[in-house]
Amino acid sequence: MVPPASPSLSASQLATLAELGEERTAKVGEVLFRVGDRRYPFIAIVEGEVTILDAAGNEIIRHGASGFLGEMNLLSGQTVFLTAVVSQPLRYIAVDRDALRPALFEEGSLSDLLLSTFIARREALQRIAGIGLEIVGPRPSEATRRMVEFARSNRLPFTWRDPERDDDDGAAAALVAGLDAASLPLVRLPGGAELLGPSTGQVSRALGIGRELATREEVDLLVVGGGPAGLGAAVYGASEGLETLVVESTALGGQAGSSRRIENYLGFPAGITGAELTGRAVTQARKFNARTATPYRALSLEPADGRYLVRLEEDHDVVARTVLLATGAQYRRLPVEGLADYEGSSVFYAAGPPEAQLCGASRAGVVGGGNSAGQAAVWLSRGGALVTLLHRRADLRETMSDYLVRELEQYGVAVRDRSEIAALHGDDGQLQAVTLTSGERLPFSFLFLFLGAAPCTEWLDDAVARDGDGFIVTGDAANAADLLETSLPGVFAAGDVRSGSTKRCATAVGEGAMAVQFVHGRLAAR
Ligand SMILES: Cc1cc2nc3c(=O)[nH]c(=O)nc-3n(C[C@H](O)[C@H](O)[C@H](O)COP(=O)(O)OP(=O)(O)OC[C@H]3O[C@@H](n4cnc5c(N)ncnc54)[C@H](O)[C@@H]3O)c2cc1C
Repeated sequence: MVPPASPSLSASQLATLAELGEERTAKVGEVLFRVGDRRYPFIAIVEGEVTILDAAGNEIIRHGASGFLGEMNLLSGQTVFLTAVVSQPLRYIAVDRDALRPALFEEGSLSDLLLSTFIARREALQRIAGIGLEIVGPRPSEATRRMVEFARSNRLPFTWRDPERDDDDGAAAALVAGLDAASLPLVRLPGGAELLGPSTGQVSRALGIGRELATREEVDLLVVGGGPAGLGAAVYGASEGLETLVVESTALGGQAGSSRRIENYLGFPAGITGAELTGRAVTQARKFNARTATPYRALSLEPADGRYLVRLEEDHDVVARTVLLATGAQYRRLPVEGLADYEGSSVFYAAGPPEAQLCGASRAGVVGGGNSAGQAAVWLSRGGALVTLLHRRADLRETMSDYLVRELEQYGVAVRDRSEIAALHGDDGQLQAVTLTSGERLPFSFLFLFLGAAPCTEWLDDAVARDGDGFIVTGDAANAADLLETSLPGVFAAGDVRSGSTKRCATAVGEGAMAVQFVHGRLAAR
């Protein structure tokens, strides 16, 4: 798979970049950066050509005059996944990452071009085998499946090698021979360093993602959860002068980040991918100096001398004057036997580029009647899969937007009303068929589940009042002074986690922004 061709920089954009960086030359064969490097500058080509190679030396793409090098890791600080070698005598502008950032905030057209290209390149890299992380571990290993899920939700390019499958002549088995369960999975980083049984936090930090937190942090506003609500609060909180920290247990962007295309977000008439919308939001939050820390899971919340103490995984504490709970909700699983055997290999909860690639020309079932199911079905069908959408009600229009119902038809997705899955059949983690409660058997090789979500609030125990389904109550229902305030003064909730909220991106962003106003009120009252 060849990544999208590099768009060109205009003469005025090259001039802007020349002011930020320095002009250099390089000879044929010189390496500008290589797989595993911790950082590299942004490179704009004035004259000449650069060839991009994977770790094994295979050519991925060539960039010529007015083209530029770089992808998402240039902004996130992640380790380099590819090698850049000069293939024609080169004159180029090198801009240090720290010098590029302010330009991304101030130069609208340059920022648009770079951000959308970086995001498109990351999507393309996710589809090329052999780039990025290598995760070696068997499917029954829960730690292995967690690591694969972590890589997937962080949109990291990765390859999963299962030693119990003999499709690589036993090479993966040899790598983990003799290792005990606690040492699995073996994770090989770009550049070759290996970690045995690492936590997702260790891998994250080894890749340079997220920031190290001090053992104890003190902030004005702690935002728990980095989805649209949390990022909305981070942008407004930090831009209005609050010392704001966002802690996120998995990947910044939340559920929205996994959406293939958000069509109903104000200001994007042609729709926008969740990755792009949330990637832009993260850049915007950082522009205003909001700090983001991933992956750190919040474990508890308790009052502490007029402030709040939130304990995080890996023995970190945050003391905050105010807290925003924006932990959203998590997908529901299908209540059938043996589901875990297939999760991550042929049963998924999101349909991204790797899954579309995997399912091309295969039969895939998408389960659910909501818009997220509709979007996934269209995306997979456009990728070449033969898709059937199963849902429980008599008419899909009761639960899915009309435009998506029309797209299902347009892209040839078969829809089965009043259908529920009773059993899965397959072998060695590979799904072969499902049986419906009606007894009918359908030959699916892949299944995508979009069954709604339960709130991520268990960690709160009874620290704040929740409704019968576990969602956090706010305002009058919590005897609180402000609309988004919980039963604890100074602790607010926004987005999907809040009882009665509309489960949409725009609402989550709006509530996150609104919560900041209540935070100011609370701080002023003190
Ligand atoms: C596939 C899909 C497609 C969608 N498409 C659309 C669409 O087209 N239009 C639309 O308007 N909406 C869409 N939605 C819904 C939309 O994404 C959600 O309403 C929105 O993301 C809610 O934002 P949030 O910030 O409240 O929660 P989330 O996005 O769920 O973010 C919560 C974050 O909190 C983190 N977290 C959870 N627990 C902890 C903890 N203990 N410590 C630290 N962090 C924690 C989670 O990892 C997560 O990143 C879609 C959802 C999905 C899944």
